[in-house]
Amino acid sequence: MMRIDILTLFPEMCESVLGESIIGRARANGCVEITCRNIRDYTIDKHNRVDDAPYGGGTGMIMQTQPIYDCYAALCEETGTKPHLIYLSPQGKTLNQERVKELSQLDNIALLCGHYEGIDQRVIDEIVDEEISIGDYVLTGGELPALILADSISRMLPGVLANEDAFTLESHYSGLLEYPQYTRPYEWHGEKVPDVLISGHHANIQKWQREQSLKRTLERRPDMLEKAELTKKDKEYLDKIKNSEA
Ligand code: SAM
Repeated sequence: MMRIDILTLFPEMCESVLGESIIGRARANGCVEITCRNIRDYTIDKHNRVDDAPYGGGTGMIMQTQPIYDCYAALCEETGTKPHLIYLSPQGKTLNQERVKELSQLDNIALLCGHYEGIDQRVIDEIVDEEISIGDYVLTGGELPALILADSISRMLPGVLANEDAFTLESHYSGLLEYPQYTRPYEWHGEKVPDVLISGHHANIQKWQREQSLKRTLERRPDMLEKAELTKKDKEYLDKIKNSEA
């Protein structure tokens, strides 16, 4: 079973999310083990401090080396392993579905959450294996990014989703955005569900979904089409809609 350890100053913030819905069930059913470890529990400072002012001046506080190092060392010692340690950081490589898929193949990962103005560079240099950003914007802490990473990895693990199609057909997995989805009622605010979806004709439904997926990706994320695996039919369809727009 995959194990994910979150190293944070705010374990309750993480636990409140990880106990709910699909991830909560996946943990309860033994599909994934996720634990949250409080970095503050490892400080040797008599006032329980974990941060201090930056050398060289500037605003905010910097998380100190000792509690983080000792927290990670305790995790390694208790588990008898050296988990792949990811520091969630706006300076890391931006997360994408491909990296999520690769990380879901590992047995053990640990997620280090920064807070305040960040973490003393020396401990990053010494223990961190990889830095991951969730996007080009800055948050107050690494907890939400760590939860995003834990969520996206967990849902790819065997047994977490009822059906593997649930993620293999989804946006980004195949290099395309997903087609639009509908559910009951058949008519809502005067709008009906596309006829093909109630036709019961499986091949036509698949063709429609593939074309909608291509159309959406062309409209919203044309950059993705450059890398996507496209069949001859896909390319013909895309040419047809590009020509009809011209
Ligand atoms: N001073 C840092 C800098 O300019 O790179 C930013 C520190 S940020 C206010 C505090 C913490 O939030 C970081 O240590 C990191 O763990 C987390 N964080 C903020 N934005 C993030 C992002 N886009 N992706 C991942 N983690 C992020």
